[in-house]
Amino acid sequence: MHIINDKITQVRARLHRACHRIHRNSNEVTLLAVSKTKTAADIRAAFAAEQRHFGENYLQEALEKQQQLVGLNIVWHFIGPIQSNKTRALAEHFQWVHSVDRLKIAQRLSKQRLKHLPALNICLQVNLDDEASKSGVILAELPALADAVAKLPNLKLRGLMAIPAPRSDVNAQQQSLERLQQALQRLNQQGYKLDTLSMGMSGDLEAAIAAGSTMVRIGTDIFGARTPRVSNN
Ligand SMILES: *Cc1c(COP(=O)(O)O)cnc(C)c1O
Repeated sequence: MHIINDKITQVRARLHRACHRIHRNSNEVTLLAVSKTKTAADIRAAFAAEQRHFGENYLQEALEKQQQLVGLNIVWHFIGPIQSNKTRALAEHFQWVHSVDRLKIAQRLSKQRLKHLPALNICLQVNLDDEASKSGVILAELPALADAVAKLPNLKLRGLMAIPAPRSDVNAQQQSLERLQQALQRLNQQGYKLDTLSMGMSGDLEAAIAAGSTMVRIGTDIFGARTPRVSNN
């Protein structure tokens, strides 16, 4: 498990270098450790290395790990695709949901958020490349969705999230990610106070930092490669 400790140290250093290079303060960027398919023991090892924010994609798997880790002061983020029948558990067991891309899901999260909990932090997932197969609201429909979600009680609209189409060239990655940054700026010019750009994964962390990311979601470079999942939840 010291491997995870070493890898987190390396990712933090990489994040720090990426910020330093463009004169950003690395304190502005939250490192979200993406622990999908990894064990509760892996999360515990990362927690011991002072990692506090964890991202999960699959609800059942996440709930099982949460149970095994009760009592640890972890901030749980949901970053996977959302079906309507999963919203209640999300509203009860997570502090953040990054993958909201339609109003119906947001309405359910708002209604089902437990009243004694603080507002659920929401990012709207944007389909930057207009890929038909991908989740995410297209940029043309983002303003209307943001407007409707921002009005819902028990939710706090924090910002935008994207998973751009894979590109190996850093400049091409950055150009794509800058479109998310511009979308956030346009919303803020209309009076929103959005503070979160959830973008940047193991393969495009530097480009994301250059494009203004405030939350990078790193899985592979912290926990190692993932083996394909068999179950489906
Ligand atoms: C798996 C996943 C990540 C982490 O990707 P890595 O390439 O392993 O760092 C980030 N964001 C989302 C939405 C994911 O599903």
